[in-house]
Amino acid sequence: GATLGLLGGGQLGRLFVLVAREMGYRVIVLDPDDRSPAGELADEHVCADYRDAEALTRLASACAAITTEFENIPAESLKLLAQRLPVHPSADAVATAQDRLREKRFLRDLALPTAAFAAVGSAADLPVAAAAVGFPAILKRASFGYDGKGQIRVATATDLEAAFVSLGGVACVLEQQVALACEISVVLARATSGEMVCYPVAENEHRNGVLAVSTVPAQIDEVLSERALSMARSIAEALEYCGVLAVEFFVTREGELLVNEMAPRPHNSGHYTVDACVCSQFEQQLRALCGLPLGDTRLLSPVSMVNLLGDRWLQDGGIDWAQLYATPGARLHLYGKHETRAGRKMGHYCVLAETRAAAQGAARALDAALSPSTDPAA
Ligand code: ATP
Ligand code: MG
Ligand code: MG
Repeated sequence: GATLGLLGGGQLGRLFVLVAREMGYRVIVLDPDDRSPAGELADEHVCADYRDAEALTRLASACAAITTEFENIPAESLKLLAQRLPVHPSADAVATAQDRLREKRFLRDLALPTAAFAAVGSAADLPVAAAAVGFPAILKRASFGYDGKGQIRVATATDLEAAFVSLGGVACVLEQQVALACEISVVLARATSGEMVCYPVAENEHRNGVLAVSTVPAQIDEVLSERALSMARSIAEALEYCGVLAVEFFVTREGELLVNEMAPRPHNSGHYTVDACVCSQFEQQLRALCGLPLGDTRLLSPVSMVNLLGDRWLQDGGIDWAQLYATPGARLHLYGKHETRAGRKMGHYCVLAETRAAAQGAARALDAALSPSTDPAA
């Protein structure tokens, strides 16, 4: 197989590298960290800044095509590489997803529903934004936020002013805080030919702004599920997207479906596809990148995925892995990160079972059993 270039060395990249190697491809990873999860498994690891001209030249000369696993890759670097070889997703698609304001305006132009929002460029914009959006609201940095970092909930004008200062006075989006019934996501793959395949909708539970559990099939009605799929498809069409795209949605208590945000890459809520689908989201990324026919997205079993955050490693008593190995249908994935930090994604596991309820029940039971000391009441 050919040599593929991957910008970003995190866990999404690692899972891509694993699939690519299994399929006979070589991978060169570019990441500034010399011990990144993907870089360590790659055939070659170029350790440099994403803007480093020499590093980009090395990738362009050695690779047949380039992809990314990290939405904050400078769009300029993607554009530069695209002058010499295929780059998917495109610099344009990545630029839209990496700026929350640009992303929201793009969605609005497509007439897709979002939570009410307003741009905040400077402190002078705060009163107007507050009047437009109302309270409660969430102030989010326009760029570089992830896992709920870089966003603050605000209930009053005073809160809002303080939040803007504590986010550093950078460009922000003020967003209406919606009352959620649940959260769902759609992961899809699209080829340059326009061919598109979607995975079934995942139902996601977040804790402290971080994805905690994804369960598939989602427990939502067929109409809602179809609407989510069709909105995700229209986003991919409008971006003339090539690669794997994830779209996160809010389902409000009133039953409304709102687009939250999108990710121009495989997504944490799509990890279940590795264990429970014919073709995983990472294989789709490779297929789309290499111009191969897209794979089968069929779900082979109900599944529930649980993220393993650094907190578990840091707690007294450690992790009772024996519980995981003893659970039928459970599969473990660890990312090989060298540094453990609270809130950091270190791995995940999936539990496959006969029904959605059984998968979710077993996943939750394991969640509690792995970390017996987290609940003081237990
Ligand atoms: P990531 O990119 O890791 O998914 P992020 O930092 O970009 O996260 P968001 O997706 O904007 O953050 O928000 C994280 C979570 O916070 C959401 O999944 C949801 O649970 C909650 N949240 C965010 N915005 C809103 C909102 N407007 N109303 C209600 N809840 C929200
Ligand atoms: Mg995000
Ligand atoms: Mg999100």
